Amino acid sequence: CTPVQRERYLLPYARGEKRSAIAISEPGAGSDPAALQTTAVKTGDQWVINGRKIWISRAHLADFIIVMALTDKEKRARGGITAFLVDKGTPGLILQRQIPVIGGHAPWELVFEDVTLSDSQVLGQVGQGFAPMQLRLTVRRLEIGSWCVGLAQRCLDMMVDYAKQRVTFGQRLADRQAIQWFIADSATDIHAARLMTYHGAWKFDHGEDVRQEASMLKVFATEMATRVADRAMQMHGGMGMSKELPLEFIYRRLRPMRIFEGPTEVHRWVIARTLLKA
Ligand SMILES: Cc1cc2nc3c(=O)[nH]c(=O)nc-3n(C[C@H](O)[C@H](O)[C@H](O)COP(=O)(O)OP(=O)(O)OC[C@H]3O[C@@H](n4cnc5c(N)ncnc54)[C@H](O)[C@@H]3O)c2cc1C
Repeated sequence: CTPVQRERYLLPYARGEKRSAIAISEPGAGSDPAALQTTAVKTGDQWVINGRKIWISRAHLADFIIVMALTDKEKRARGGITAFLVDKGTPGLILQRQIPVIGGHAPWELVFEDVTLSDSQVLGQVGQGFAPMQLRLTVRRLEIGSWCVGLAQRCLDMMVDYAKQRVTFGQRLADRQAIQWFIADSATDIHAARLMTYHGAWKFDHGEDVRQEASMLKVFATEMATRVADRAMQMHGGMGMSKELPLEFIYRRLRPMRIFEGPTEVHRWVIARTLLKA
């Protein structure tokens, strides 16, 4: 970013004084962001953005939104997508509707109607927005891995505690092999995901390309935590279904993680495609 953008956006963001949102997805372009239709057209020294975005998290709280728009319809992801910084309250930026979804999320549909920006609101190089966006999403996938490890660990801790207390048919759940296997399989799952998370983060910190590891982690960790949460709910019986324990919330919270930052099926496809191309 430019020195002015650094002062105005990056540093306040890093200090926690400003909040942001990122607007990539559109009604017709989610898994495949290269298909986005929102345009930014240059007229004189100004850019005019028109289009529609959907599923944008925290849009109502954001002081600024990073908006991906098409600046060259021919080049698209290969030099035709640009990132723009759009401030809260910019004329033409319409927060159309909030969409409640599973797990307590409530992202927004946004409309851009002749949103006019100066050149200084271009983030990075014109036409070169796609690669930095992918890099940011890669980091998010590593973060999701760590969220899943944390949520699953909480479930496992609860499983271990409950197994030792709960008695059925005269025996503790801890003494039943079925329950021991729930615990053993969950501990094994979490261990694997934790190591994958550390490894991906370590490689990233060393400046290496971790797109493949991030995709693998996103698939494995989200499915792993879902399995663990499901086992935890099962062994807690009726209490596992209740809202008095955090388990049902964890289960709901995990569900959209298999969709956002790229659905599981797309990551599996990307992992295989990379290997088959080599
Ligand atoms: C809670 C939440 C928060 C979000 N926050 C944001 C945000 O802040 N900013 C933002 O820009 N977006 C956000 N999103 C959008 C999210 O990234 C998209 O929903 C996601 O990329 C999927 O796009 P889509 O919904 O258009 O599904 P589609 O692309 O229509 O895909 C539908 C399904 O088809 C299957 N599929 C698609 N492609 C393939 C393929 N190649 N091979 C096999 N199967 C395939 C998958 O099962 C996929 O789930 C959010 C979504 C949710 C649910």
